[in-house]
Amino acid sequence: MGEFDLIRHYFARPSQPEAPGLSAGTVVGIGDDCAILQPTPGMQLAISSDMLVEGRHFLSTVNPAHLGHKALAVNLSDLAACGARPLGFTLALSLPSVDEAWLAGFSRGLFALADAHACPLVGGDTTRGPLNICITVFGEVPPGQALLRSGAKVGDQLWVSGTLGDARLALEVFRGNVSVPMAVFDAARARMEQPTPRVALGLALRGIASAAIDVSDGLLGDLGHVLRASHAGQGAAGGVGVRIDTAKTVTLFASNLIASRGHPDCSKVHIHPRIQLDYVLAGGDDYELAFTAPAALHNTVLATGLATSTPVTCIGQIEAEPGVRLVDGEGRLLKNNYSSFDHFA
Ligand code: ADP
Ligand code: MG
Repeated sequence: MGEFDLIRHYFARPSQPEAPGLSAGTVVGIGDDCAILQPTPGMQLAISSDMLVEGRHFLSTVNPAHLGHKALAVNLSDLAACGARPLGFTLALSLPSVDEAWLAGFSRGLFALADAHACPLVGGDTTRGPLNICITVFGEVPPGQALLRSGAKVGDQLWVSGTLGDARLALEVFRGNVSVPMAVFDAARARMEQPTPRVALGLALRGIASAAIDVSDGLLGDLGHVLRASHAGQGAAGGVGVRIDTAKTVTLFASNLIASRGHPDCSKVHIHPRIQLDYVLAGGDDYELAFTAPAALHNTVLATGLATSTPVTCIGQIEAEPGVRLVDGEGRLLKNNYSSFDHFA
């Protein structure tokens, strides 16, 4: 199978009628030199790229449908963090060989998520080489309404969506460092391989959240970007700080499974609370949103979580003093020796 047959067979699909009410317009999709998109007049474009490299971001043994899902999910997560509505995406793919079973699975997982978000594949590039997947997503947002990292204000509350730490738990099981029952592992592994981009929540947080970021490298590390980009006030030096109530952060979905003992073996599992906290604060690969919002909008944020069927938890507060302060349930300061992932560290 040649390059063009491959593209036609696995990636070019008959153009779909736009879902009613959606503004995204693909004027020209796959097949010409450029894709031509028609954003809603007056909207700003939001653009993000994410690359997945075999051996670095995923193992060769991963289910290709899950990989297709994840490659797009991590990109949609960036749009979500900016409060942008998906318009379409491109796919640059480097493949060692034409493996039709792999391509069929990969494109199935990719398009299932793309269709769920009405986000069409509009173009790309295909070449031979080490397995490498790079997606660029395009989204739109009303002028000035994008959620940015730089808007956190002193007194704002810090929120996270969903659960943190599950992907890390799955990774540690793969590494042989932790052992959990199959039911718990399956749940954690699904979170690692098929993260849920919080697009609906991101859109609904426009005008409510003061700053947002998606958690890909670990909560504390990603939060650091928000803290450094934000300002304590007029004339103040750059940067704000945060106080995090660690009693509210232990939100692993898998640990809830353990606690609920929904599976007979689950009662035998014990992950030390200190380790759980490490996974939650520094785990990475969560693709949840961390965002700040004025304390006066506390109930509005809760209602937004309900309206978008996305769990949201308030875990802390922005303070003027730079740095991260972790406190326990009684407000006592804890030592912070959690570090997040850095590809070049
Ligand atoms: P060019 O030579 O202009 O770079 P190509 O021959 O690489 O174009 O690609 C032909 C068409 O197929 C283009 O419209 C391109 O966007 C699309 N395409 C190539 N690879 C992919 C892919 N992996 N997914 C989606 N579209 C692709
Ligand atoms: Mg090309």
